[in-house]
Amino acid sequence: MKEIIVGIDLGTTNSAIAYVKDGVPEIIPIDGQPTMPSCVGIDPQGKLLVGLPARNMLIAAPESTIHSIKRRMGEPVKVTLAGQQFSPEEISSFILRKLKEEAEKFLGQPVKKAVITVPAFFDASQRKATQNAGELANLEVVRIINEPTAAALAYEAGHSDNERILVYDLGGGTFDVSVVVIENDVVEVQASHGDTHLGGDDFDELLVQRVVDDFHAKHQIFLSEDPKTMRRLKLSLERAKCALSDEPLVMVREEYIHGDLHLEMELQRADYEEMIEPYLQKTLDCIHKSLQDARLLPGEIAKVMLVGGSTRTPLVHQLIEANLNLVPRWEINPDLIVALGASISAASMAGEKSKAILVDITGHSFGIEALSFTEEGEMLVNTPIIHRGTPLPVSKSELFHTVHDNQREVEITVFEGEDRIPAKNTLVGQFRVEGLSEAGHGNPILVTFNLDLNGMLTVTATERVTGLKKSVTLDTRNVHASFDLAAARQNIMSLVDQDVLELEEPGEDSEPVDSHALLVSAKELRKRAEALLENKVTEEDAVEIRELLRKSAEAVKAKDIESLQPLNDSLSDIIFYLED
Ligand code: ADP
Ligand code: MG
Repeated sequence: MKEIIVGIDLGTTNSAIAYVKDGVPEIIPIDGQPTMPSCVGIDPQGKLLVGLPARNMLIAAPESTIHSIKRRMGEPVKVTLAGQQFSPEEISSFILRKLKEEAEKFLGQPVKKAVITVPAFFDASQRKATQNAGELANLEVVRIINEPTAAALAYEAGHSDNERILVYDLGGGTFDVSVVVIENDVVEVQASHGDTHLGGDDFDELLVQRVVDDFHAKHQIFLSEDPKTMRRLKLSLERAKCALSDEPLVMVREEYIHGDLHLEMELQRADYEEMIEPYLQKTLDCIHKSLQDARLLPGEIAKVMLVGGSTRTPLVHQLIEANLNLVPRWEINPDLIVALGASISAASMAGEKSKAILVDITGHSFGIEALSFTEEGEMLVNTPIIHRGTPLPVSKSELFHTVHDNQREVEITVFEGEDRIPAKNTLVGQFRVEGLSEAGHGNPILVTFNLDLNGMLTVTATERVTGLKKSVTLDTRNVHASFDLAAARQNIMSLVDQDVLELEEPGEDSEPVDSHALLVSAKELRKRAEALLENKVTEEDAVEIRELLRKSAEAVKAKDIESLQPLNDSLSDIIFYLED
């Protein structure tokens, strides 16, 4: 049996373990999860608990649980656990021992050697303490590597580009930024800065404080007086915080939070991001300091890589992109990338080569057209919902609002591309949501995009107050083929005055729009719509139908196949609505 050297990310909040299987780095699950909370506890029966079970005990028995021990590594201190004293090395060794044992079960063979990662700023005594923790867990620590080095290896295995890479790591309790260069498979950390007390825990704290204040304002009760309630809030709000990375708002519900009182509160991403922005500004300062140390200008950085669970917050991406003018890479799971990179380093020590980790990402952003109030006034802009570079499959939502009082319908126009000007992007599709309730302007509409690995984009628009919903699935792979075809058609139209039907002949491997079918259905839909006009329809509907008929006739005349599809959709929608 070949010896396996594992890679371990011994994190402040979470740890993970990985190995290279047939050249591909892979995570070993612990308690069914890809990462394990870095928690150690002792249960009432005196049994040692590590990982998830210890974290679950945190609420009930905080005095019997230790977390964030990594902060104390290298210090000559003891922590008390269920009345017994332990050094940070000893606590860390419990974490490493569980990782090792679970890996042995998973792999079906002994695991004796490991590469363990540490923050770039760890000094010699902190590194030595990590090594000792490994030895205590019966692991031979064959190498200690820096976390940003591991992250860079995960992205760059097999390449040696001599590029300068900025690794931005925002975890649970700490923030680090490093500038690294890979030369001939050797990663060199050129500069590193950070804040050992800045991370997701601080963000949770802000949310807890917000809820405590809000509850006090409503009920004149201080939830903060009960430590158990506070820990319950912390867990609940951490969950809510994570959800806000994908959704614009979440409902926080905790029953019987105080006597008979329940907690029910809506949190909005926009508010949350405003709360954490000062912290994120600090991380930007650190970026600029490390660039100064490495004597680099922002433009000399080739790539930014995101590491750590807290980098899933959309504002992090936005601020980095705005500051460094680079779309940050995060397609390798930011919770797992350090362990995966460590396993690549481990495999290379065992003489094995690893392949780069391949993950599907969106090459472009997907968004909808929405009215934006800018300095130049109101204008329709393309508003991204899924940003380019996002790993697939993905589900993301954003909130939009109606503009007019009593606006009974909204048009959802989906674009692929990054340009703010809608027309400069590729139209993916269009549909209309009708039957919205009578409400003042600002009626919230939640728009959700689900994009799968095959490029199928399901767009769902939901009126929040009523739950009224409309969903369509669009094939994003076809948009380029049809878009190019239509553009080409326009281009040659004036020169070769051929019939549309001739031009639509499919090319060798293109995926043409079926313009014939579109023309036929346009004709049929117009007939039905005209019939509706003879019936009793409201003046408002009649105006809309006549407008659509006019546009449809125009599009057919101009052989504007591109516009015909959405017009057909709109006609068919209104027919469906009125024929009922
Ligand atoms: P560490 O390196 O400190 O061990 P991690 O990289 O595992 O930490 O990050 C843990 C932090 O990431 C926690 O504060 C957690 O709440 C946060 N986090 C995890 N997932 C998300 C998410 N989807 N959105 C925002 N924060 C997240
Ligand atoms: Mg980490």
